[in-house]
Amino acid sequence: MSLINVQGVVLKYIKLGESDKIITLLTDKLGKIDAVAHGARRTKSKFMASTQPFCYGEYQLHKGKNLYTISQSNIINSFQTILMDLDKVAYGMYFLELIDNITENEVKSISILALILKTLYILTHDEVDLRLLRLVFDFKAISISGYMPQIVNCVKCGRRIKEGYFSINRGGMICTDCKDNQAVYGINKETLNNLHIIKNIKLENLRNIKYDEKSINYLQNIMTKYILYQTETDFKSLSILDKIKR
Ligand SMILES: [Zn+2]
Repeated sequence: MSLINVQGVVLKYIKLGESDKIITLLTDKLGKIDAVAHGARRTKSKFMASTQPFCYGEYQLHKGKNLYTISQSNIINSFQTILMDLDKVAYGMYFLELIDNITENEVKSISILALILKTLYILTHDEVDLRLLRLVFDFKAISISGYMPQIVNCVKCGRRIKEGYFSINRGGMICTDCKDNQAVYGINKETLNNLHIIKNIKLENLRNIKYDEKSINYLQNIMTKYILYQTETDFKSLSILDKIKR
């Protein structure tokens, strides 16, 4: 029996049998994996807390025929204070779901793990505007997974662009001359400037930026459509998020 020690974040779980769970874990060494936690749904289980969504921990796994099984776990940061704020829960669940949807099983990505950890840390410690955090997170997550929107040059003619339109299916900015009748959203200079800030800002600097609420909402609408287009997945957490007005 081979054992492996990993660090990882619990993205979700499903129930298995009477008292077990299969958790989806985004790990440092193995990428995203599914692992069985025996008895984890019993209240006195040693795996009770370490198999909750958001939990970041060390896990000792052994590999079976199809699945990994957790033999030991140790919590590094449970991020459970997120659960004290319903808005943060909704945003947090969305962040986990997006990560789940853009990662393949057993493909290592340290940058995705770093992104979710940093984001969960901000969610628990900083007073940032959650809408802004989401937009920046979306941009970074979709970029790391290989679909960074092109916003410097026109996606069609390559000319440097100062204003124009965003094309979902072409994946970026398109100039006035190249505009086609596909779904395109007008982007003026100021909005494009905001998009550049969103692309380049570090998550830890979010508290310091001034932003225009209207512009954030407008860009979020485009970003969500872009993500849905690229991932071709339904997001369960999106409908809850849409209901939140903060
Ligand atoms: Zn063009």
